[in-house]
Amino acid sequence: MQQVGVIGMAVMGKNLALNIKHNGFSVSVFNITREETDDVASKYADENLLPTYSWEEFVKSLEKPRKIIMMIRAGKPVDETIEHLKPFLDIGDILIDGGNSYFRDTNRRHADFGRLGIKYIGLGVSGGEIGALNGPSMMPGGDSSSYAALSPMFEKIAAKNPDGIPCVAYIGPEGSGHYVKMIHNGIEYGMMQLICEIFDVLRKALGWNNKQIADQFEVWNSGDLQAYLISISSKVLRKKDNITGKDMVDVILNEASYKGTGNWMLEDAINLGAPISVIAAAVFARFMSTLAIKDHVLDDKPTLAKIDSDLVPAFGNALYLAQAVSYAQGFQQLKMASQAYDWSLNYSSIAQIWESGCIIRSKTLTDIRNAFNEKPQLDNLFLAPFFTALRLSHLSDLRLVVAKAGAFGIPVPAFSAALSYLESIFNSSLPANLLQAQRDYFGAHTYRRNDKPGIFHTEWYDEA
Ligand code: NAP
Repeated sequence: MQQVGVIGMAVMGKNLALNIKHNGFSVSVFNITREETDDVASKYADENLLPTYSWEEFVKSLEKPRKIIMMIRAGKPVDETIEHLKPFLDIGDILIDGGNSYFRDTNRRHADFGRLGIKYIGLGVSGGEIGALNGPSMMPGGDSSSYAALSPMFEKIAAKNPDGIPCVAYIGPEGSGHYVKMIHNGIEYGMMQLICEIFDVLRKALGWNNKQIADQFEVWNSGDLQAYLISISSKVLRKKDNITGKDMVDVILNEASYKGTGNWMLEDAINLGAPISVIAAAVFARFMSTLAIKDHVLDDKPTLAKIDSDLVPAFGNALYLAQAVSYAQGFQQLKMASQAYDWSLNYSSIAQIWESGCIIRSKTLTDIRNAFNEKPQLDNLFLAPFFTALRLSHLSDLRLVVAKAGAFGIPVPAFSAALSYLESIFNSSLPANLLQAQRDYFGAHTYRRNDKPGIFHTEWYDEA
């Protein structure tokens, strides 16, 4: 009998199964299309990796209570797979969805299985195929009573943070694990867009080539800005195209695609009223890249002398602060979701899970973990002493990047959003007073006063 089963032998499922096997657990594997299972079997089958070829054979090969991980395409395939499995499952079995499922689908499946006595876990997994093989960051949510049975294996196969702690911990009820993965992906959108924007500023306002920018990213990656996404951006910029010999980045079509987790985060941000402006700017920038009218370039760019490279350290500071805003907005939405959905999320633990193995891993996440350790219910990351100091020391550099980009006609939507967020969040004189007056003028929506309590309405037409 095998200890765990994995369904789905595409990149993630195959590599996760191999990770489980390498860590000393026996695993059964199954894929709906036989060829994928055959491929894995031909390379890796032994007493610890058993290929199976029917739903029944797969389920019956597992010791009870069964632990089954689905690593398949999110959406309908998960519901179809559940229907195939259901006739063979017993009360107490644990079914785990390790794909990028929408959290409301996981809420529904969790409730359905709860009624059947089968334990359901929605598991966010990050780190791509290398992470899946060598140690992913893992965000399990759902049936808490089953976590004790899973944690020895999860803790072995997960990445370890710089203190050697496994990057996995129980997140909370229902689809909260998939929710946290969705927020991870939104932060990832923000960080990627900010790196792309600083790349654009360095090449257009300073006239730097890809190699110079790669070198600068490497310098940044060895300091406070240390982050997986900065390190891979440096490597990407050094890569040559085999066909033309040009820099790879220069032959890649200038259009970004997306799978939808960023959109889901925005949808729920709108439900909750979470101001995740950097992440929204990043999602919209991807939309923009496909809509940009490329054969009608208007020759209206300002012609300015190139910026002096003395400003590059200030640009690095701006990137560091803006990346922190992307994290802060993600954690703000997590806090609002935790309250709205009654999930009691632990933000320090979530930061620790993201410290290694995942795409948004960075030095900053250790500072975020420390901030939430000191004050678990921190309202905003920028209220923590470390991030207050960061804002005070680097805000002028963020203003500088946005101003310089504006002068050169370089769009920096994510940097602009980060700046406006910080200018707004600590601001008691936003122009919302005029806005409330406008609403009251045309719709009698009322307003509150700053000099006495109560709700007021003014007869504007008489006075106008
Ligand atoms: P994928 O391309 O998202 O999905 C392919 C897998 O789903 C294949 O095994 C495929 O089987 C199976 N599948 C599709 N329709 C099915 C159906 N109706 N019934 C049963 N199985 C079905 O593969 P992936 O990139 O390995 O990702 C797996 C999951 O992990 C996804 O939810 C993905 O979003 C998530 N994820 C991916 C990454 C990444 O870097 N790729 C990172 C984190 C999370 P066939 O071989 O027969 O087509």
